Amino acid sequence: MVSSYTPTKEEVVEFYENAIPLITRLVGVNVHLGYWDSADDTSTVQEATDRLTDMMVERLRVGPGSRVLDLGCGLGMPAVRLARTTGATVVGVATSPSLVAEARARAAGEGLTDLVSFEVADALDLPFPDDSFDAVLAIESIVHMPDLPRVFGQLGRVLRDGGRFVLTDFFVKEPPEGRRLAAVEAYRRLALNSELLVVEDYPPLLRSAGFHLTEYLDITRQTDRHHREMVLAVQRQRAELEPVYGPGMLDAFISVFEECLEVGEPGYLLLSAERMAKAGG
Ligand code: SAH
Repeated sequence: MVSSYTPTKEEVVEFYENAIPLITRLVGVNVHLGYWDSADDTSTVQEATDRLTDMMVERLRVGPGSRVLDLGCGLGMPAVRLARTTGATVVGVATSPSLVAEARARAAGEGLTDLVSFEVADALDLPFPDDSFDAVLAIESIVHMPDLPRVFGQLGRVLRDGGRFVLTDFFVKEPPEGRRLAAVEAYRRLALNSELLVVEDYPPLLRSAGFHLTEYLDITRQTDRHHREMVLAVQRQRAELEPVYGPGMLDAFISVFEECLEVGEPGYLLLSAERMAKAGG
């Protein structure tokens, strides 16, 4: 934990209403980082973001007949891809109604409404019965949530025994100080992130919600190019963006991202966990 700044649910909803047009203009409709294998990897942002989705989907180990919760579904790209590649049924949730509407339109456009559905719901209070999912996918969404013990508790409740939970999250490599602290705090305020954890925080947090951590990957190095790509996209599109967002906002955006790349924080993690057997079942 690096400071007490925590965005409210309403602020996060408003953030996405405003930020989605800019994000999609800069990097497309996957609202998460891309994964590049190495400096020589020539993948586009679209390919790299789909690759991260695929890496996570693979770890869910689901197929036709499985029911997956996509927690924080964004514009529905990962859910649609998951359903198409595995045949699983997917229920996506998000707190922003406009994102849910766009995700629904995407599933309809892809002819996947039999497998994929979306609803407005809050991770802190999921409107689903106990043991109603075989797996949970959370791509870059828990970072906005104020109370992770409660969120993980909700996921432990709706997930059946043995079900898998795969997530990505921003984290801090060590409790930051000085210049690193300033960079992380500026990033959190720009991207409406809650408190960031250190790696050691995850196993006990997961365990107390009934999960056993099975895999931990620090993918900071493979994903930080995404921030560089965003800066380049702002620079390329500056003439069209400036009348809409103003020069000050674009400069602030670039300087926060460049400073984070410089100090190497925040990091980015891919975690997999498994629901342990519930007592008394
Ligand atoms: N997983 C998507 C979107 C990531 S953006 C993708 O990879 O493309 C973060 C998402 O988390 C948004 O859809 C936002 O609406 C959602 N979110 C933020 N706080 C939430 C909460 N408390 N409960 C449910 N979803 C939330």
